[in-house]
Amino acid sequence: MLLEIFIIVKESSTLLLHRAFTKKKIDVDGQLFSGLISAISMFFSELKMGQVNSFEIGAQRVLISPYEGIVIVGVVEEQKEAQFVQNSLKKIGEKFWLEFKELLTKWDGEISPFKSCESKIDNIVYSEFAKSYISAHFPKKMIGVVRQFQNIFEKPIVRYIGLKVGDERSKHIKMSKNLKNKLHKELDLFSINKITERSENEIIIEVKMCPFCRKIKNVEFNCDFLAGFIEGFAMQCLPNKAIEVIETDCIAHGNEACVFNLSIK
Ligand SMILES: [Zn+2]
Repeated sequence: MLLEIFIIVKESSTLLLHRAFTKKKIDVDGQLFSGLISAISMFFSELKMGQVNSFEIGAQRVLISPYEGIVIVGVVEEQKEAQFVQNSLKKIGEKFWLEFKELLTKWDGEISPFKSCESKIDNIVYSEFAKSYISAHFPKKMIGVVRQFQNIFEKPIVRYIGLKVGDERSKHIKMSKNLKNKLHKELDLFSINKITERSENEIIIEVKMCPFCRKIKNVEFNCDFLAGFIEGFAMQCLPNKAIEVIETDCIAHGNEACVFNLSIK
């Protein structure tokens, strides 16, 4: 997983933006780190050894992705994910450069304008994660991966990733007019127990043996991924409606089942 990124000006090695994506904070001085990256890059290019693309520090891997006048540096935890993270870095570079290239030509050193790009960067990182890491291997390994990342990310992020995966899954399933039937077919994977259509605008989904809650005790509700998944799935099925999914019971919280209330407006 991509833990953090640094966006640096290629020429001056000034740090423009530093963003962390997980609860794990590396706690590094961004400006000092930017200087280090530039020094390493310069050292190797002066030795005519070509461009450095990555190096390792302890258990972490640092990926360097130059784009036009900027360099995107990513810190990654596991090495095997490097390829999909490279895609994210490239997309971030393109987006950031497109947005700020003019500002950067007459830049006064004020870094606050770059903050406006944070949510777009988050979207790229979490969408790539959902697509390359979960949807691509669906349903194989999915439960294990979700159980792992629901501890790494903040709750709204877990929900967002669920939403992206649900949206992606819904596109793959043959259109059926009935959302309830469609949900039933898809959610069987999560040991779905019961789906009740309370009214035209309200569906209750009960998961008796929730794989995301097994052996977990939590004061808060735990199933943000599944709530997001159902929401994304329903949104794709009913694009002209406003969909809202709320988890009203959760096994991890001590209830008998995880229950989701899906409302359609
Ligand atoms: Zn739950």
